[in-house]
Amino acid sequence: MVLCSIGCIAALSYYENSRTAQENATLQIDGAARTAAAMLSLETSSPFQPEFDNSARPVAYILKDGNVSSQLGSSAMLTELIKAIGFSNQGAVNLFKWSEATQSFDRFATTFTKPDGSPAASFSIEAGHPAYADLTAGRPYEGKVPVRNTQHLAYLVPVLTADRDLAGAVAVDVGRADALQADRERLQGKILAAALLILAGAVLIGGLLLRFELRPLRRLAKTAEELASGKQPDTIPFCDRGDEIGDLAHGLEKVMDLHDKLQKLAYTDPVTTAGNRTRYFADLSKILREAKSGKYCASLLHLDFNGFAKINDTFGQQAGNRVLLQAYARLAGIFGPRAKIARISGDDFCVLLPFDGEGTVAEDKALQTIEELSAPFHLENTEIRIEPCIGIALLPQDAEDVETAHRVAGLALRAAKEAGEPCYRFFTAPLNERVQTEMLTETLLRAALKTRQLSLHYQPQLNPTDGRLIGLEALIRWRSETRGFIPPGEFIPIAEKTGLILDVGHFVLEEACKQAAKWIQAGFEFGHISVNVSPIQFRQQSFARTVREILASYGLAPQILCLEVTENVFVDTSEKMVLDVLSELQEIGVQLSLDDFGSGYSSLIYLHRLPFQELKIDRVFLSDACSDPQKEHLFQAIAGLGRSLGLRVIAEGAETAQEFALCSAHRCDGIQGYFCSPPVPAHDIPARLNAFHQSFDLPRVTKPRASRPGKRRA
Ligand code: C2E
Ligand code: MG
Ligand code: MG
Repeated sequence: MVLCSIGCIAALSYYENSRTAQENATLQIDGAARTAAAMLSLETSSPFQPEFDNSARPVAYILKDGNVSSQLGSSAMLTELIKAIGFSNQGAVNLFKWSEATQSFDRFATTFTKPDGSPAASFSIEAGHPAYADLTAGRPYEGKVPVRNTQHLAYLVPVLTADRDLAGAVAVDVGRADALQADRERLQGKILAAALLILAGAVLIGGLLLRFELRPLRRLAKTAEELASGKQPDTIPFCDRGDEIGDLAHGLEKVMDLHDKLQKLAYTDPVTTAGNRTRYFADLSKILREAKSGKYCASLLHLDFNGFAKINDTFGQQAGNRVLLQAYARLAGIFGPRAKIARISGDDFCVLLPFDGEGTVAEDKALQTIEELSAPFHLENTEIRIEPCIGIALLPQDAEDVETAHRVAGLALRAAKEAGEPCYRFFTAPLNERVQTEMLTETLLRAALKTRQLSLHYQPQLNPTDGRLIGLEALIRWRSETRGFIPPGEFIPIAEKTGLILDVGHFVLEEACKQAAKWIQAGFEFGHISVNVSPIQFRQQSFARTVREILASYGLAPQILCLEVTENVFVDTSEKMVLDVLSELQEIGVQLSLDDFGSGYSSLIYLHRLPFQELKIDRVFLSDACSDPQKEHLFQAIAGLGRSLGLRVIAEGAETAQEFALCSAHRCDGIQGYFCSPPVPAHDIPARLNAFHQSFDLPRVTKPRASRPGKRRA
C-alpha cells in the first residue's frame, strides 16, 4: 500500500513536472511573442500593425503601408527594431520576406549572430519546414523549428499586406528545444531518483517495522511448532497482551493445556498413575540413547509380584487395583523422583534408574523394595501380602537396544521368580544362553509332537506286603533325533512356559488311556494308571471335559485314571479355581493324587480341604532315611499324616531293599522306585515285575494276553 502510494506520487510528480515544463515553454514563447508584438506596435516607425487573438497573442502582422518591398526592404530600420526586441527576449528574432517567385520566406533581418559575433548565414523557410504550411495559410505556428543543426522552440507569425496577401513572417524563438527538453529531463530524473530513494527508504523502514511488529507472531509460531513436535514449552509468551497477539497466545495456552492432558492420558497408567507401557518404552529408548552416548550408565529393574493373581481371584479386581496403587506409592517413595516408574501390565512394574554405574543403586533399591513391598497391604479389615521378585539389567552393558534391554531384564526377573521367594537377580550371560537353549528346545519339541518322537514309559507302584501291582505311573520320554534323550525335567518346564504343555499333556493323557485300554483288553491287572498333570493344564476351563471325553473314547472306567498334581498347582492360580477343577474331576470319578508332597509350596490345609485320594511322599524324604533317624522320623510322620487323612500313601524313589523295607515298615500303601523297576516301555512291564518278584520270592505276574485293539474313539 505504502509502495503503491509512493509510486503514484512519483508518477503524479513526473506528470506535473512534464506539464509545468510544457506550460513554462508555452508561457515563455507567449511572453516572447507578446513582447515582440507590443514593441512592434509601440514603435511608431514600425511598419507592422499586430493582430491579436482572444488571449492577446499576435496571430498576424499587417503592413501599415501597402508597399511590401519598401516596408520589408528597409532592413536597417527593422534590424534596429528587432535588436531592441531581441534585448527583451531571451531568444532570437527573425524577419522573413515572402518570395512569390521561389515560394519561400527568405530571412532578411535577425538578432541571431554566430558565437564569434559575425552575422549568421541567411536561410529560407521553404516547403517542408514545420511552419511553412501554417504561415502560407496565414496562420501563426508554434513549435520546434530547425535552426542550423539544432531544434529551437519558436513562434512564427505571418506578415500580411492590407489586402491580406502574404508578405513575410516574424519569428521569435526562446532557445534550443533540446536544451529545454534536457532541463526538463534532468528535473524529471531528479524526481525519479528522489522517488526511488523515498521508495527504498520506505521499503527499508517498512520492512524493519514489519519485522519488529511480526516478532511476537514468529515466537508464537515457534511455540506452536514445539507443541506440534511433542515438546512441552514452559510457558506461552505474550499472554499478558490485550491485543490480537494476546488472543492468539491465549488460544495456544489452551492448546498446550489440552496437549498436556492428552499427553498425560496417553502416557499414564490409569490404575496407579505411574507411567504406562508406552511411557516406559519411550523412556527406555531415551535412557538407552543417552547411556550409549556415554552420558551415564543406567539400570532397569523389572518387578513382578508372586501370588498377585490370587488377590484378584480372591478379593476381586478392585482390591487388586488398590494394592497396585499402594505398591506404586511405596515404589515411588523408594526410588525417588529421578527414577522413571511404569506399570507395563498386570502386576509388572519397570523402573529406570539413570546414573547407576555399577548397578549398586539398583541393588540397594531392590533390597529395600523387597523389604518394603513384602510388608502387608491393608484394605479395610484385610491384610494382603505380595512377594516381589526383581530382575535387573545394566544399560548399556547388558543391552544396546530397547527390545534386548526389556528382554534381558525379563530374563533376570524369570530367574528371580524361579527362586520361589522374594529376591532379585542381575542379568548374566549364562541366563541368555539358557534362554537360547530353551528356545531351541521349544522348536524341537514342537517338531517332536508332530513326528511322534514322544513316547510313554511306565513305572510300577507295588504293595509292599505282597508285591502286588497297585498302579503304574506314566512318564513321558523324548528321544530327539539331534540331541538324543532329553529328560522331562528339562523340557516340561519349557513346555509349561511356552504353553506347549497343553499339547504334550493331551498326548500323554490320550496315550496312557490308550495303553490302559489295551492292558484291560489283554486281561492285565494293573490297578490304576497315573498321569502327571501340569498346573497350566489345570487353568484350562475345558480340562475336566477333555478328561471325560478321552476316558469315554477308550471306554475306560474313570477310577482307572489317577491324575497327579503337585503343590505348584496353587501357585499363581486361585484356590477357588483349583478347587472347582478338582471338584469337577471328582464328579467324573477319576482319582486325584498330590505328587511330590513336602517338596515345595506345602500347605497341610490343602490335604484336608481338597478331594485327594492319594499322597505321594517326595523322594527327598526317603533318601538317607535309612541312615538318618531324623529323616526317617519325618518320613514316618508324613506317611502317618496321609494315612490318618484316609489317603493312599505312595513312597517315591525307593532305590534299595532297605528303603523298600523302610517304606513297608511305615505302612506305605504303595512303593515306586528303581528298586522295583525304573520307568520302562509298556511291553516291558510284565517282565520287569516278574524279575522283581522272582528276586524277592513274590508271586509271579500273569503275562498279558496278546493285546486286542481297545475301544476306539468314535
Ligand atoms: P514325578 O511325577 O515325581 O515322577 C517321578 C520321577 O522320579 C520320574 O522321573 C522317575 O523316573 C523318577 N524316579 C522314580 N523312581 C526313582 C528312583 O528310585 N530314584 C530316582 N532318582 N528317581 C526315580 P522322570 O521320569 O525324569 O520325571 C521327572 C518329572 O517330570 C516327574 O516327576 C514329573 O513331575 C515330570 N513328568 C514326567 N512325565 C510327565 C508328564 O507326562 N507330564 C507332566 N506334566 N510331567 C511329567
Ligand atoms: Mg508324578
Ligand atoms: Mg513325584
